[in-house]
This record gives sequence, structure tokens and C-alpha cells, in this order.
Amino acid sequence: MVDAQEAVIVNALVRQFLVAAQEVMGANGINSVLRTSHLERFIGNLPPDDLNPGVKAVEYARMNEAIEAFYGRGARGMLRRIGRASFQYAIREQPALMGLAGAALRLLPQRQRILFVLNNMVGALKKTNAQVDAWVEDKDGSIAFIERTCAICMGRKSIQPTCYLYIGSIGEAVRWASGQDYDIRETHCIAKGDPYCRFEIGEQISM
Ligand SMILES: [Zn+2]
Repeated sequence: MVDAQEAVIVNALVRQFLVAAQEVMGANGINSVLRTSHLERFIGNLPPDDLNPGVKAVEYARMNEAIEAFYGRGARGMLRRIGRASFQYAIREQPALMGLAGAALRLLPQRQRILFVLNNMVGALKKTNAQVDAWVEDKDGSIAFIERTCAICMGRKSIQPTCYLYIGSIGEAVRWASGQDYDIRETHCIAKGDPYCRFEIGEQISM
């Protein structure tokens, strides 16, 4: 188990987050979040697309918290949108890392496609950062994505699950895999005292 103060997020993922956040919030929005999070060094200056440590996980969590404070009631939707944009960035810019370049998903049943993409997300996270402890659960007919090292809520305390950004990314991954929207529910969250953050793929949302 990695100590919360030691845990890091690699540059490539910080970059992905900042590009996605700027797409959704605009430059002024993200710059103001960077200032309140004491991460001014990234204003107009994205980290390189490599696997060196970018920020501490607690700093990453602080950016998420700052976005919540910035948008108040609208923050959940905003964070989900940033999560969706992050996954789209990963597919666009890092398909090989995601193991999704040219994947012949079409031949698989929908459930297998969802499992495939989520397992590849876990694989990519582990490949980029040896500290990551994450896995996919496929049990009693339901699929869940679980992480014990969730950087979105690292060091935070909350009475409710807080990892909306993750909900967005997982939702987008599932949509990419299946062509359908599914309800993603965070059933467990480290910020509220659970041992891990757990995101369950719920019902398909009719479009
Ligand atoms: Zn979390």
C-alpha cells in the first residue's frame, strides 16, 4: 500500500486531465483552478507526454476539489464531462498504451466488449504507474471497476462518494466499447472510509 503523501500521478495523465479540463471549462476556468490548487506551474505549460511523476496524488485530488468549489452545484456534471473528455483524449492520443489500437471488438458480445475495455484501462493505469492497485470485478452478473489507489479522492474526506471524474471516464469507456450509455454508480469511496473506490456498471440508459 502506497502512503498517500508518496503517491504520484504521471505526466501523461496530468496532461490528459489538463487538456480535458480546458476543453470543458475553458482556459480561464482551469487556470483559476490551478491557482487555487497551488499548481500555477501548469498555467499555459502542459507537462510532457511521458511517464515521469507529474504531481502528487494529493495535489491531483486538490484540483478535483477546487473544481467542485468553483462550480458548486454544477460541479458533478462538470467533473463527469472532464472525465469523458479525458477518456476521449486517451483514445485519440494514447491508443497503443490503452491497448485499444485496432481492437476487433465488433466480433465480441457487448458484455465482453465492456470487460475488455475496462481491463485495458486497468492495464494502462498499471503500466504507467507501478503504485496503482486496481482491478475489474465480474461477479453475480454485475461488472465493476475498483481502485484502491484512487487519486481523485486521495487524502479527502466526504460523507458521499466524490469521484465524479472517474464516473465520467468509465462511462465514456463503456460507451466507446458498447455504443450505449450505462448508468455508472460509485458504490464505495475511499473518501467516505471505504477500502477502495468501486464503480458499478448499472443499467443501460435508453437514448
Ligand atoms: Zn475515489
